[in-house]
Amino acid sequence: MGVKIYNSLSRQLEEFSPQIEGQVSMYSCGPTVYDYIHIGNARTALVTDIIRRYLEYRGYAVKLVQNLTDIDDKIITRAQTLGVSSSQLADTNGQAYFEDTQRLGIQPADVHPKATEHIPEMIDLIKTLIAKNAAYVIEGSVYYRVNSFKEYGKLSRRKPEDLLAGARVEVDPRKEDPRDFDMWKAAKPGEPFWDSPWGPGRPGWHIECSSMAMKHLGETIDIHAGGEDLLFPHHENEIAQSELATGKPFARYWVHVAFLKIDGKRMGKSEQNFIFLREALDKYSAEIIRHFLISAHYRHPLDYSLESLQKSESALKRLNNCVDSLQKYYEATPEIEENNSTASVDTSHEDSELLEMIKTLQIQFTDAMDNDFNTAKAIGTIFSFVSHVNKSLRSSNEVSSYTLANAYKVLLETCQVLGIYTMDEQDKDTENTAASLDPLVELLLEIRQDAREQKDWDTSDKIRDRLKEIDIEIQDTREGTSWKFVS
Ligand SMILES: [Zn+2]
Repeated sequence: MGVKIYNSLSRQLEEFSPQIEGQVSMYSCGPTVYDYIHIGNARTALVTDIIRRYLEYRGYAVKLVQNLTDIDDKIITRAQTLGVSSSQLADTNGQAYFEDTQRLGIQPADVHPKATEHIPEMIDLIKTLIAKNAAYVIEGSVYYRVNSFKEYGKLSRRKPEDLLAGARVEVDPRKEDPRDFDMWKAAKPGEPFWDSPWGPGRPGWHIECSSMAMKHLGETIDIHAGGEDLLFPHHENEIAQSELATGKPFARYWVHVAFLKIDGKRMGKSEQNFIFLREALDKYSAEIIRHFLISAHYRHPLDYSLESLQKSESALKRLNNCVDSLQKYYEATPEIEENNSTASVDTSHEDSELLEMIKTLQIQFTDAMDNDFNTAKAIGTIFSFVSHVNKSLRSSNEVSSYTLANAYKVLLETCQVLGIYTMDEQDKDTENTAASLDPLVELLLEIRQDAREQKDWDTSDKIRDRLKEIDIEIQDTREGTSWKFVS
């Protein structure tokens, strides 16, 4: 039995089989960096992270690409409001995105391509589509001719008449068909632009993902993930562009993550009912937020509430206590790493019972995750195991150290796939080091601030440069100066 994925394209649970045995190419639509991300956005990023971790746990080598949309109407508008350039705003928020997701324990993708660094690839793809008569130019903008792609609507299963009815009220009268969408937008005065064969302008959002996915993962990718709001029109349009250009399937498995809700409504910037991920992380640990975000299956809606986070908090306390009580047996049993057998010692009834539970945990955890990454069920399995271990630990009958060490090992492995027990050791070390260095770096920053106030730029620069030499980067913002490790 292997991994099964619910494919939004076929609307069926399918056996997962990548194009190349043992290797998975995966693309996930990343953020448009006009602001910090809220925890609703974090749900999609986290599900992508867990799918990747689980496929790796199952022995696949995964190449994950997640883009950054760093040019877009929202970025331009917000940058104008704030009086900064679009690229400055995108850089700051792109950086913030990495900080926030790293704090949540999300591992970086293998490639994080930026739209503005792939303009030539986008222009090439548009040229190909024009050559195939699938696009047309009007006054410096290029539109995709939806009618040229017979399978248009196959992902969203919308019929042409629904698509027409669903098209925006203010349809650009220059378009041949209201469903046509722009791949290249002619520059308006004051907007950032790039040169193209059709004049100065910038790419549309859909062409960005088609180009970057195909550049970094090839013409056909195994898994394409994104939030459910992207299914139409974004993903439908990605398919139309890529498949018409290459004549090959664009993505073999489409994965869509349901919304996070708050007070029964979708959490979103436009609804003004969101909580920034960084705010949540100031109050709760990454593990608590992860536990909450995966407590429902990714295709089911999930409601945000303080009660849910508090439930996750107390669940994790139970988990941590259990792992902590098992740890000493593990540390006292170094041979556990060499021997994978869970049945080598069998001394008491409690022993064999716990050994049986360890096997059950492994089997049920894998079954749940194999079944379209059912994290809710996987967590349930982990917690019933925790209850059993606690019972064994309380029992007056001896359970061998070897068995308890095994319980620790398997429990930790499953928790690490979900990222609900601990961050990587390295992150923990970094956090500890950061905490112990903090007063010292703060002192240096204070001296630097005094120097800056006296316009002693030499001292100020020296402090910054010397810190950089030991991998400490400082950032001056309106709220003051902060620091972090860079490698
Ligand atoms: Zn996308």
